[in-house]
Amino acid sequence: MLRLLGAVVVGLLVSQVAFLLTTVYLHRALSHRALILVPAAAAVCRVLTWVLTGIRPRQWVAVHRKHHAHTDREQDPHSPLVLGYAPVQFNNAGLYRKVAKDPAAVARYARDLPADRWDTVLFDHALVGLALGVGLLVLLLGWELALVAAAVHTACYLLGGGAINGIGHLWGKRPFDNRATNNQWLAWIVAGEGLHNNHHAFSTSSRMSVAKGEVDPGWWLVRVLVALRLATLRRHSVEPVATG
Ligand SMILES: [Zn+2]
Ligand SMILES: [Zn+2]
Repeated sequence: MLRLLGAVVVGLLVSQVAFLLTTVYLHRALSHRALILVPAAAAVCRVLTWVLTGIRPRQWVAVHRKHHAHTDREQDPHSPLVLGYAPVQFNNAGLYRKVAKDPAAVARYARDLPADRWDTVLFDHALVGLALGVGLLVLLLGWELALVAAAVHTACYLLGGGAINGIGHLWGKRPFDNRATNNQWLAWIVAGEGLHNNHHAFSTSSRMSVAKGEVDPGWWLVRVLVALRLATLRRHSVEPVATG
C-alpha cells in the first residue's frame, strides 16, 4: 500500500516537472520568446520534454501561436466557446494533434523553429522518448509501480492541459479585457498557467502573476534560471500590451 502511494507521488512529481517544462520552455521561452535560455539549458529542456511528454516543440509552439492569433474564434485550435467545454477538457491532445499534423500550419506559425538533424534522428520519435521515460521509471520502481506512476503522470498532464484551455477560457476572474480567465487554484496545479487572463493580456511577459496575492510557480523557476545565469529575460515586467 505504501509502495503504491509512493508510485502515485512519483507520478505527481513527474507531472509537475512536465508542467514546469511546458510553461517555461515550450510556452514562455519558445512560443513567446519572453525569456532566452542558454544553449545547455535549452538542450536539457528539449531532452526532458521528449522523455516526459513526447511533444515536438515546434508543433506545440505552432498550435499555441495559432490559439493567440485566433483566440475563441473559428480557427482557434482549442476554444471551448467554439467547440464546447468537454472536447477541450478531455481531448486536448487530440485537438493539438489536428494542427500538429498540418505541415502548412506548423511551417506558418513556427517558422523560427525548423526541424534540425537532432529532430530527425531523435526528438521527432515521440514513442522512443516516452519509452525511455517509462524505462527510467521501471528502473526506479519496478514495472508494476512504474506503470502506476506513468498513468498518474499521463492523466494529470492531459487533464491539466485541458483545464488550462477549457476552464481557462470559461470560468474564473477576468481582470483584463480578454476572454481568458484567472483561476489561482488551477495555477497552483499547472505551474502558473491558470493565470490565463493575465497571460492573454501580457503574453510576452515571462511572469504570469500580476495582482497582489497571485502566485505563479513557473515564475519561480524562471527566477532560479536567471539567478544561475541559465536564462535572460526579454521582458520581466508586466506591460500593458493587449494581445487578444
Ligand atoms: Zn488562451
Ligand atoms: Zn501563450
